[in-house]
Amino acid sequence: MGDDVTNRSVVSRARAVIPGGAQTGLRAQAYDFGEIAFSGAAGATLEAVDGEVFTDYHLAFGPIVLGHGHPPVDEAVTNTIDEGVLYGTATTPLEVEVAERLVDLVPSAEQVNFCNSGTEATYHAIRLARAYTGNDRVIKFEGCYHGWHDYVDVSVYPPQERVGKRHPESDGMLPEAVEHTEVLPFNDPGALEDAFEEFDDVAAVICEPIPHSVGCLLPEEGFLETLREVTAENDVPLIFDEVITGFRHSARGMQHEFGVTPDLTCLAKAMGNGYPIAAVCGRENLMAQAGGDNTSGVVISGTYSGHPVGLAAARETLRLLETEPVVEEISALGERYREGLEGLLADHGIEGRAVGYGSVFSPQFGVTGEPRNYEDVLGLDEERFAEFARGMRERGHFFTPNPYKRQHLSWAHGERVFETYLADADAVLGSLTSG
Ligand code: PMP
Repeated sequence: MGDDVTNRSVVSRARAVIPGGAQTGLRAQAYDFGEIAFSGAAGATLEAVDGEVFTDYHLAFGPIVLGHGHPPVDEAVTNTIDEGVLYGTATTPLEVEVAERLVDLVPSAEQVNFCNSGTEATYHAIRLARAYTGNDRVIKFEGCYHGWHDYVDVSVYPPQERVGKRHPESDGMLPEAVEHTEVLPFNDPGALEDAFEEFDDVAAVICEPIPHSVGCLLPEEGFLETLREVTAENDVPLIFDEVITGFRHSARGMQHEFGVTPDLTCLAKAMGNGYPIAAVCGRENLMAQAGGDNTSGVVISGTYSGHPVGLAAARETLRLLETEPVVEEISALGERYREGLEGLLADHGIEGRAVGYGSVFSPQFGVTGEPRNYEDVLGLDEERFAEFARGMRERGHFFTPNPYKRQHLSWAHGERVFETYLADADAVLGSLTSG
């Protein structure tokens, strides 16, 4: 790019050739506090083009669970590339091995199809469920993100006046797609029972076992169990979207921890420590519908599906998650961040809370108590969060300035960055009250 490459020059050029100046609107939000572009990442750090080094709490929206550039994973990928980058027709031993690992690990997984993103995984899962039931209607929960396709990009972040109504998140979506998507409040088992009374054409219920797209909503006792019972009674597939929770919170998925086994599961993000890999897996009789010849049954397709690079990363990442105390350690550290932040909020007399689970946490301002559903998150103080995020970025801590999103930890984060985060959060929160 030449010698005069700076954060500002890169972003300015990006704005000319990339809509919004970044690959997604959420990524462009990073410019709220000034232009920034990144040129590298290692362990728990991110390096900007201007040379500033940040502790990374964004972690690419969550996939980085071991740390950026974790050597064994990168070596596994390099070794695989030496054998060829993309050569699969038929199958490969690597693909079989990773599918077998998932079948061993994830309770609902009897068969597996690989793809490259969480969005593809939820799309495939819904297509499988619609084919199985012959029905159209998909039930999802307000505040849950399942990717950007028309079936599910509904009521993820509806404004207050659209709560409880179906709200398309994007222009250009098919109106029919929204009509076929029923949106319910999370943690309300009665609403699900009522929906099954009202509709006899439900094709699937899709749910994040812990909705993290709005920070963190923890399922109340009995909620996921009700989803399981009601869908089973009606022979409607229950889909768990474990794109964030799978492997970050448990090597076997949150379905194992909660003891609720869905029919289909969507996996991505932490499965490959940053390499593109995703999967839809589930009961054999559902998955087998995709076993046709691309002219019959359910078509699941993709030139890059089962890509050796993602699979090699996944094989090594899964091995480490199974053999090393990664989840245990990052989850314990997450607890300390939440407790530390809660303590600081109290010390400074600032209304707020630190929600989260395991290695995921979100400081939320202007709201208190445990959020049960999307409406409980809606009232948060976006401006105060922005001030906090700006102050933290100035002190070298990077996370997305979106107040509804979350911060993540990796295995490369540790005591030292924790202490620094807390000391800096103390200073920033102090400046909020004195300012
Ligand atoms: N499901 C959930 C729960 C997610 O958080 C995301 C991404 N944030 C997706 C699906 C979509 O995944 P991708 O961005 O890989 O398409």
